[in-house]
Amino acid sequence: MTQRIGIMGGTFDPIHIGHLVTAQEVYERFDLDKVIFMVAGKHPLKQRHVTPAGQRLEMVEIAIRDNPHFEASDYEVKRKKVTYTVDTLRHLHNVYPEDVEFYFITGADALFEIIEWKDAHELAEMTILVGATRPGYTIEQAQQRHEHAEEKFDIRYLEVPALAVSSTDVRHRVEQGRDVRYLVTDGVADYIRAHNLYTGK
Ligand code: NAP
Repeated sequence: MTQRIGIMGGTFDPIHIGHLVTAQEVYERFDLDKVIFMVAGKHPLKQRHVTPAGQRLEMVEIAIRDNPHFEASDYEVKRKKVTYTVDTLRHLHNVYPEDVEFYFITGADALFEIIEWKDAHELAEMTILVGATRPGYTIEQAQQRHEHAEEKFDIRYLEVPALAVSSTDVRHRVEQGRDVRYLVTDGVADYIRAHNLYTGK
């Protein structure tokens, strides 16, 4: 039987319940064997300050620890240089048997740019893409863009109401001294507090 593995790619600064619901939804919808949370390491374009990768990874590990179908990978975090998604998928294709099907899951707005990502043509052959959309996000623009693109990506869009939560909102709330209970897991909320993250200090 062909294995189907989800790769949940993101910065996760921090991981919140929207990410967890998305991963679980994709796990069930596509009958996956497991979902690997691939925490992004160095980012070529991010303007804002990003929490050190080791801490983002620890929060992911805490958030997923009670789900036997989820695991976290330190592959991108451990690499010293910028990692592109195509590098990660090449690595995964080397590690797993040849017939494994990968489902790369991320925000639909990130996937909007995918045509410009490194070695996009190769990426299109290596993975099915799942674009998780927030409430209010319309996919028409993205669909049109991909219709006219040379690279033919297999993209499945999935609306996830729980993505009304965002990492940006969680960070802002902490900075304003507000409670992030119910937006992140209790373990992640404790971690944010213990490490004094997002306070702006
Ligand atoms: P981002 O620009 O920080 O996020 C874009 C949007 O997608 C945000 O609204 C974000 O919401 C949401 N999002 C991010 N990850 C998500 C996930 N797994 N599930 C649902 N929503 C998600 O994007 P990013 O986190 O830096 O990058 C996303 C993925 O694309 C990463 O794996 C990254 O390595 C990859 N990427 C690759 C390239 C390349 O190869 N050239 C370029 C860019 C990105 P939240 O802030 O709430 O998460």
